[in-house]
Amino acid sequence: MKKFMQLFAVAALISTTANAGWFGDDDKGADVTKDNTVYTLKLAETWPSNFPIFGDATKNFAKLANDMSGGRLVIKVDSKNKHKSALGIFDFVKSGQYDLGHSASYYWKGKDINTLFFTSMPFGMTTSEQHSWFEYGGGQELMDKVYSKHGMKSIIGGSTGNQMGGWFQKEINTVNDLQGLKMRIPGFAGEIMAEVGAKPTNIPAGELYTALDRGTIDALEWVGPSLDLRMGFHKVAPYYYTGWHEPSTELQFLINLEKYNSLPADLRSILITAMKLSAYEMYVQSEHESAKNWASMKKDFPNIKVKTFPKPVFDALRSANDKLLKELAAKNPLSKEIIESQANYLAKSRAWTAISDQSYLNSQSK
Ligand code: CA
Repeated sequence: MKKFMQLFAVAALISTTANAGWFGDDDKGADVTKDNTVYTLKLAETWPSNFPIFGDATKNFAKLANDMSGGRLVIKVDSKNKHKSALGIFDFVKSGQYDLGHSASYYWKGKDINTLFFTSMPFGMTTSEQHSWFEYGGGQELMDKVYSKHGMKSIIGGSTGNQMGGWFQKEINTVNDLQGLKMRIPGFAGEIMAEVGAKPTNIPAGELYTALDRGTIDALEWVGPSLDLRMGFHKVAPYYYTGWHEPSTELQFLINLEKYNSLPADLRSILITAMKLSAYEMYVQSEHESAKNWASMKKDFPNIKVKTFPKPVFDALRSANDKLLKELAAKNPLSKEIIESQANYLAKSRAWTAISDQSYLNSQSK
C-alpha cells in the first residue's frame, strides 16, 4: 500500500499542471529547483502520541513530504503530549509558533464562526459529495477566504467517513429524553443539541472516557467503530446510536501562510500533494477499520445495543438545524455564502448519489 501511495504521489506531482481541481493553480508550472536547502517545518497535532488513524495521517504526511522532496522537507510532528494544548492548534499556527497543524476546523468556531463549515455539517454532504465540493465545487476557495484572514491555509486532512451518533447511558425514545442531557458533541451539532434542550460540551479525546465514567457527561459522540471501541465507551454507555450529525468528518492540515510563501514553489506543491495523499490514505484506513471493528463488535461486545433515533427526534434535530443555519446566514455574509454554496452543491450531488449509490444499494438489499 505504501509503495503504491509513493508511486501515486510522484505521478500526481508530475500531473500538477494537468489537474487544477485537486492542486489549485498556485504553483502551475513550478520549476524543479536545484536548491538543496533542507527546510524543517514543525507540525502540532491535536491528538495524543501515536493516536491511531489520525496520528497515522501526520506520520504518512511527514514521510511522503520527505520522500517526495528527496529529503529537502523535514516535518517534525509534536503530539498533544509535547505541546500540551489539544485545542491550541489554530493559535499555534496563526502565531507561527508552529508552521503546520493537524486538527479539525469546527473546533475553531469560537474564534471565527466561518471555520465551522469545513469539517462536516449535520444533515450535510457525505464524504464523496463533500470531497467533490472541496475540490471542484468552490469549497477550497471558501476555506481559503476564511483562513487567509488569519494568515493560514487549510487543506483536507483525512475523513473518518460517516460517524456514529454516539454512546448514551439511557435510551433516547422522545425529544424529552434529550432535555438536560449532558453530551460531548462539538461543532454545529452541539448547537443543535442545545436548541432541543440538551447541554453540549466539547472535551478532547484523552479525557472522554473519564468524563463519561464519572458522570461529568451522560453521553458522547466520538467517531465510530474505527476508533470508539478501543476507547472503552461501551463499558459505561451501552446504547450506540447511528449518525446524523457528522456524515463526512474531514480533519484539516493548517499551514502558516508566511512560512508557506517562503518555500520554493516545488516544495509548496509537494507539501500540498503530501497532505492530500495522506488525507486519502486516512479515509481508506478509516473505512477499513470501521468495517473490521463493526464485524467483531457484536461478537466481542454483545451488550452494545445499536439504535437509531426515532423519526420525531430526527425531525426535531432537523428543524433546529434549519432554524440555526438561517440565523447564522442572517448574521454574517460570509457564513451565508458558505451555507448557500454547501446547500446548492448538496442538492446537485445528492440527486446523483440517489440515482447512483442509493439505487444500487437499494437494489442489493435483501
Ligand atoms: Ca465526532
